[in-house]
Amino acid sequence: MAVGVQGDKNTGVTDIDFDVIIVGAGFAGMYMLHRIRGMGLKSIVFEAGSGVGGTWFWNRYPGARCDVESVQYSYQFDKELEQEWTWSEKYSPQPEILKYANHVADRFKLREDICFNTRIKSSVYDEDRTQWEVTTDQGDIYRSSFCVFATGCLSSFNLPGFEGMDDFSGASYHTGQWPHEGVDFSNLRVGVIGTGSSAIQSIPEIAKQAKHLTVFQRTANYTIPARNAKLEEDYIRAVKGDYAGLRERARQKPAGYDIPLNPQSVLEVTKEEFTSEFQARWEKGGTQFLGAYGDLLLKPEANEKAAAFVKKMIRNTVEDPKVAELLCPTNIIGCKRLCVDTDYYKTYNRPNVKLVDVSQIPIDRITSSGIAHAGIEYEFDAIVYATGFDAMTGALFNIDIRGREGRSLKEKWNGGPQTYLGLTTNGFPNMFTITGPGSPSVLTNMLPSIEQHVNFISDCISYMREHGHSRIEPELNAELDWGMHVNEVADVSLRSTCASWYVGANVPGKPRVFTPYIGGFPRYVERCESVVANGYEGFSLA
Ligand code: NAP
Repeated sequence: MAVGVQGDKNTGVTDIDFDVIIVGAGFAGMYMLHRIRGMGLKSIVFEAGSGVGGTWFWNRYPGARCDVESVQYSYQFDKELEQEWTWSEKYSPQPEILKYANHVADRFKLREDICFNTRIKSSVYDEDRTQWEVTTDQGDIYRSSFCVFATGCLSSFNLPGFEGMDDFSGASYHTGQWPHEGVDFSNLRVGVIGTGSSAIQSIPEIAKQAKHLTVFQRTANYTIPARNAKLEEDYIRAVKGDYAGLRERARQKPAGYDIPLNPQSVLEVTKEEFTSEFQARWEKGGTQFLGAYGDLLLKPEANEKAAAFVKKMIRNTVEDPKVAELLCPTNIIGCKRLCVDTDYYKTYNRPNVKLVDVSQIPIDRITSSGIAHAGIEYEFDAIVYATGFDAMTGALFNIDIRGREGRSLKEKWNGGPQTYLGLTTNGFPNMFTITGPGSPSVLTNMLPSIEQHVNFISDCISYMREHGHSRIEPELNAELDWGMHVNEVADVSLRSTCASWYVGANVPGKPRVFTPYIGGFPRYVERCESVVANGYEGFSLA
């Protein structure tokens, strides 16, 4: 299966010694570089792709767009940048988000310190030199005092090892590695495997083009209409007139995203009241649906009210009752990531779309002409794997990271990631992860979470320089305490109760641990601020 983007492999870098090496040129790596350069330090970014943008560079499948509102899914560190950039839609499409990333790279002249088409193979802490030694896929070695992994939470794609994948004679695609030139599905018979966010966005678009589309569903997912729309000039003016207020309101919300949250219990209101509230939020669209009541993700009986409403909407939309039943999820709403769509359920009313349930009998194998399942061979010209990612740790484990005494990160995290604040890990001095495991990351609006981490790391490096420290490492006890806290808060939420990628269930053999921090953005920020105020409490500095 041909995936990936090829490019010029020559790094063209002549220096080998840096203050900070950054891995990844998505939104995290770009802002990290900007901050480090602003401190007068020497830094370089290594990026596997041929351009900036990370997630938005790779995920170019039809219908790809962010389901956090664009005016909030954007940087806030530069007021002029905020004012000069105008988003065109409520949820901007992938090309516009990528254009924004490129605009930022140009505006802050970031490209000159980014080495594209270069994948990092290993990153090893050299105790004698007190430096990180980083080796590229071309065998070039670079050294730095600090190493920052800005490798993304959903960047290492997951391709289930179906038997016979290489036998398929048609074209194969993964949503997370989409060809830059796009794909024309006109007149083709297409099979899509998966019904997560990427599939739910791409299926309606592929169905419009393809001669016939067959969707293989293992687990039905809840999705809420996006109600995407062009942004009106008056709205843009109002946002730009009070960006500071919008950002401040977002900072106070658990997801770092300013959406209306009702703290009331759904169990305390009448059926008429909650039905009308769910209806209003369904009409408004987007993930704010789950903010209708404060206990939807805390109590199964509360969750059931929201789930029943969505199932009613599915049954009202999908004409064939058997297909509607298959599309009705049986699990907790919001346990797996809530999806946001445009015309997803309606797509199953099209005569050229078929849904195949693979929940009871798994896909047998990929054949030379299609997909074999339950004694039937479905013939395709193209197969789309919308099968997600090895989330949170996959991209880190793709690099051979070794800390003190040659200890491998992969081995240390064999039973699940262990971090202090999702930013650092014991045994790996002067190493940081942006939106790493154990930080709010994927449960929040990524942009403010990224900025908060980058600011923490930059301030920490400044502090070390001011106080004559050259080494920082979290203490083991601090790490264990943080790990216990991450688990405690996860246990309170229904989110930790199903087989989702949040717990690593989508990748065979991955330890089942609820990986992100679910205590909320404000609580997390408060904790980081208190750590700093107490002289980097929980860290040993030398
Ligand atoms: P995903 O949510 O992990 O979905 C993967 C799909 O593939 C699931 O339906 C899964 O079924 C199915 N699958 C995996 N292995 C399979 C197998 N062996 N046989 C049959 N089906 C199989 O991945 P994703 O859709 O790429 O989304 C991942 C995350 O990226 C999202 O949750 C979201 O956080 C982010 N994302 C965001 C946006 C946005 O902002 N709009 C868009 C896309 C993605 P099971 O559920 O049964 O495992």
